[in-house]
Amino acid sequence: MQAMVLNRIGAPLQWTELADLQPGPGEIRVKVAACGVCRTDLHVVDGELPNAHVPITPGHEIVGRIDALGRGVEELSIGQRVGIPWLGHTCGVCPYCSEHEENLCDRPQFTGFTRDGGFATAVVADARYAFPLGELGSDVEVAPLLCAGLIGWRSLVIAGGGKRLGLYGFGAAAHIVAQVAQWQGRTVFAFTRPGDEKTQAFARSLGAKWAGGSDQMPTEPLDAAIIFATVGDLVPLALKAVRKGGRVVCAGIHMSDIPSFPYSLLWEERQLVSVANLKRRDGIDFLALAPKIGIVTKTTTYPLIQANEALADLRAGRFEGAAVLVP
Ligand SMILES: [Zn+2]
Ligand SMILES: [Zn+2]
Repeated sequence: MQAMVLNRIGAPLQWTELADLQPGPGEIRVKVAACGVCRTDLHVVDGELPNAHVPITPGHEIVGRIDALGRGVEELSIGQRVGIPWLGHTCGVCPYCSEHEENLCDRPQFTGFTRDGGFATAVVADARYAFPLGELGSDVEVAPLLCAGLIGWRSLVIAGGGKRLGLYGFGAAAHIVAQVAQWQGRTVFAFTRPGDEKTQAFARSLGAKWAGGSDQMPTEPLDAAIIFATVGDLVPLALKAVRKGGRVVCAGIHMSDIPSFPYSLLWEERQLVSVANLKRRDGIDFLALAPKIGIVTKTTTYPLIQANEALADLRAGRFEGAAVLVP
């Protein structure tokens, strides 16, 4: 098998020939058909997440087919199409796992961060954390649902039921969430980098009622806002844009420092919360819903060997929607 491996934090990924992996007990081996590129992969490469270790193969939006089963795997079968997300394993016994908060597990494993991920031709996964995908949608179209979609969905649920929803940072996650939110009957307000008219037009093409720079105020007060961009400066801006009792959800795993802001922005029962990881339940719920909503993902594909170019283009905002690697 081959993989694009991170051998040193901050260094380019390296095309590497590896011995074929064998799934252990409870694991599956998946031949990768497509793997989305997520902003979290940039954080992994840049060493911005705690407890980073190398060498590691990034990639946690994996779509592929099972080609080997480890001992004891009975619910999945050879040839089945599955998706492998960020949450790769949880301990099952810590206080969080015991209280159905596996997304907060004390001893988790994360695909493409603490266990090898999908920037490769094959990956071994814990069978309990792989989602059967069915056959609807191409591998490339489905890949961004595995993180951008799932984390977006979890963020949307946590944002509450308010009708007027602001999305700060209109990339892979927001372009999916915008479709889900409108299907639910909500109105979307899209915030991009100031002056990024191309992305604002993209947001309008997906049905956003209003699109503008993150330095602008929306035309109506928002019931809730989700911040997908990794920019702490957006937090006070989003708090300013939500109504009394409104909620601001920080969806990223990493964010630059949040500047100090006057208490009046939080006053009147505005809430500021973060979303961490996902629960398997989120995946099951969202992946069942996605075909009903008819989500269309906008993707730019790169050959696996060009993973570094895909990461650079993501960093520079050179494409709309999501990048997907294909072996
Ligand atoms: Zn746990
Ligand atoms: Zn991700």
